[in-house]
Amino acid sequence: MFAGENELLAIRKWLEHGHSMSTSWLVVRALVDESLKKVSRSGDLRRFTDAELRDAAGVDEFEWRNVRTWWMKRRDDARTFLRSENQDGVLLDMERFPGGGRGITASTGIVVRKLEGALADQREDEEEDAGASGPVRYAPRNADSIRLSGPWRRWLFSAGEIEVGSTRHALLRWRVMTPAIFILLLSVVFFVDLVLRNRPIETQDLAYLLGIVVIGKFWWQEWRPIYHARLDRITALPEEWLTDDELPTQLERKRTRSGEVLRLVRYQAACPICGADVHLGEGVPSDPRRVLGRCIDAPREHVFTFDPVSHDGRHVRNERPGVS
Ligand SMILES: [Zn+2]
Repeated sequence: MFAGENELLAIRKWLEHGHSMSTSWLVVRALVDESLKKVSRSGDLRRFTDAELRDAAGVDEFEWRNVRTWWMKRRDDARTFLRSENQDGVLLDMERFPGGGRGITASTGIVVRKLEGALADQREDEEEDAGASGPVRYAPRNADSIRLSGPWRRWLFSAGEIEVGSTRHALLRWRVMTPAIFILLLSVVFFVDLVLRNRPIETQDLAYLLGIVVIGKFWWQEWRPIYHARLDRITALPEEWLTDDELPTQLERKRTRSGEVLRLVRYQAACPICGADVHLGEGVPSDPRRVLGRCIDAPREHVFTFDPVSHDGRHVRNERPGVS
């Protein structure tokens, strides 16, 4: 039996309470919204193909397997919520209608289940889950839409990448080296002045030193990603490089047919444990230089390695509590 309006509205409320920009969340919300639009129609019209859901959710692509994992991990939570919304004993589920030959593709609908059936299902799913935390596979996503902060950085990376040795690369280096020379000059002037005049350090000297340190910090922020991309092949871009609502992005140094490039990338994967999105970030605090994948719903627990060559990852076990 397909879910009715009240049940769909309740599950929509549950989704809004746990608002997330995760692909699986967007797909489930699209499924609920599309079901609501067709709530008075017959059953066949209340199930949707993956392509319909992808368009309705506004996501690039998704795998049903990951959405299923996402839902199974949160189904108990949803049930508790539904109970508090006076939907006691209601068990909502995503039913998959398999595709077949002759161009029939698989589709999904939201159904209401009887309790016994649902519990049997759950047992089945739990068995399925036991093998679910396999390797993570990262894929680059939406590299064209990455928005850097500041007109200068945006212009430098307007093509998404900079060829090493090109004019833009020279300008990038110039932008980084100029403040470095400036900082060096300021420091030399300061110490020469101190030594030549042979005077005690005053408060204004400390302010001057502090100024140098602050400029130095800004300089490092600018230089670090370029330097680390060269040594480590890939590095997480600091937040200062990105506009406010931008998802985690990386800077990759890659050999291409036409030469070496510095490229903006955004590797993404689905969390094998809970189905939410995994983004790459710094391995702080334990491995600051390492790039690790973190699940947006459990960033300290569902942590995965990233292999820049094969684009695979595996779960990093949290052997030491608090350290990932
Ligand atoms: Zn997760």
